[in-house]
Amino acid sequence: MSVGAWRVAVLGAGLGGLTAAHAIRRRAHELGHAVELAVWEAGDRPGGQLRTTVEDGYVVEWGANAFRTGVGPTADLVARLGLQDQQVHADPAANRRYVFHGGQLHLLPSDPMSLLNFTPMSVAGRFRVMAEPFLAERVDHDESVHDYAARHIGPEAAEVLLGTMVRGVYGGDAHLLSVDAAFPVMREMERDHRSLVIAGLAGMKERMRERKTTWSFREGMNVLLDALADDLGDVLHLGRRAHALARDAAGGYRLTAEDGSSERFDAVVLALPPRPAADLLAALDPEAAADLRAIPSGPIGMAAVAFERSALREAPDGFGFLVAPGEDLPVLGVLIESNVFPHRAPEGHVLLRVIQGGVARPDLDDLNDEALLSAALDAIDRAWGVVAPPVRTWVGRQERGIPQYVLGHLERLVRVEGHLRRLGGLHVAGNAYRGIAVGKLVDDAEHVAEAVWAEVPAPTAA
Ligand SMILES: Cc1cc2nc3c(=O)[nH]c(=O)nc-3n(C[C@H](O)[C@H](O)[C@H](O)COP(=O)(O)OP(=O)(O)OC[C@H]3O[C@@H](n4cnc5c(N)ncnc54)[C@H](O)[C@@H]3O)c2cc1C
Repeated sequence: MSVGAWRVAVLGAGLGGLTAAHAIRRRAHELGHAVELAVWEAGDRPGGQLRTTVEDGYVVEWGANAFRTGVGPTADLVARLGLQDQQVHADPAANRRYVFHGGQLHLLPSDPMSLLNFTPMSVAGRFRVMAEPFLAERVDHDESVHDYAARHIGPEAAEVLLGTMVRGVYGGDAHLLSVDAAFPVMREMERDHRSLVIAGLAGMKERMRERKTTWSFREGMNVLLDALADDLGDVLHLGRRAHALARDAAGGYRLTAEDGSSERFDAVVLALPPRPAADLLAALDPEAAADLRAIPSGPIGMAAVAFERSALREAPDGFGFLVAPGEDLPVLGVLIESNVFPHRAPEGHVLLRVIQGGVARPDLDDLNDEALLSAALDAIDRAWGVVAPPVRTWVGRQERGIPQYVLGHLERLVRVEGHLRRLGGLHVAGNAYRGIAVGKLVDDAEHVAEAVWAEVPAPTAA
């Protein structure tokens, strides 16, 4: 590497860190910058929350199981890594989604007619949704997802529909999350069209143009993680936990690993959960660290359960179900993996993933695997009836869970980014800041790469 190369460290090799590192290096080449990159990952494998187990004909995901994207950075990344031939699209027959409400499954409405037959809501509540175009107004301040939804579709639909969705996506509480931070597209719909119904109709054409689909890789998310890790090569250091970060006399940073070794970098990208990011920043900028520490999250548990098809009284239909707030079923939802991607279970078998935890379940960390599995089997039994035991089970947990974009999140993010800009050469990446979905992390990696190179003087032509 030539003298004068910009030394960039990316901390954390979850999808956020891997894609940020990939984008930083690519943009360096495009912009003509010389770069020396190092990715430090505390664990012994890349991927963080993403992990795939392929065993005996089953493909089991421990984190996200799919992307929902169209044209854009994710498609470009897949093409650059040469992975298009390994992409698989969700079976369209698995589009139907259910909600567990009042002790049973109900098909979630997909159009106004099906809403009229949606019995978890009162008749008045259903008509209130239909009246949305006449009552909708724009507001110019942030509000909770629940308050936003209640203004548009009424309090009952806000509780049943949005309350359930927020549990499914964030393991969160719609009364606490900020609509501007957690679902910015909803605010855009309101800003552009006032009414969500009108926005939905107007947006159809745009959605067709974006061609968003649900897809993954035949052998799961590991395909992407392995390709990104291969592409980074010996730049990726596994089992290297960042322990301390200090200012360097030359205006850069000295980064010390847990084993005491240290290196100097010009720029550092913290693609870490907010707590370890805060620990590293505590001495440099206590205020930024306090803001990061204040980003809440709830633990998530996952039990994957495989049955012979005949072991369930009713065949599980569609994509899966989410559990409405207030139900006495201690899980967030169940995904029917073998419906969405039929090759993920052997012929004649069903693979289900039961997700539990979230902000309402801080006790999850205290539950052992047997308890998680027992809750999962209970949920499956109440939904479809279990008549014979499962043939395989896998149980795991993500202690740091999913970050919650609560009210005030965007202001907090602006403050943190302002502090880091003043320090110079420091950036945050990953799911705690600008989007939790895997597609959003790939988009965000481009933003992070731009921010890194924006601080570096353009190279002069030789
Ligand atoms: C059960 C579950 C289901 C999900 N389903 C979906 C879905 O269907 N669709 C979707 O879009 N998203 C889904 N998600 C969310 C998505 O998987 C995550 O948002 C994403 O994988 C997070 O990636 P990340 O890089 O931000 O963080 P992480 O994956 O947490 O990566 C952070 C990395 O930092 C490392 N690290 C921590 N401290 C240090 C340190 N001091 N030094 C060095 N390294 C360190 C960790 O070991 C880890 O590898 C799901 C998440 C879960 C848990």
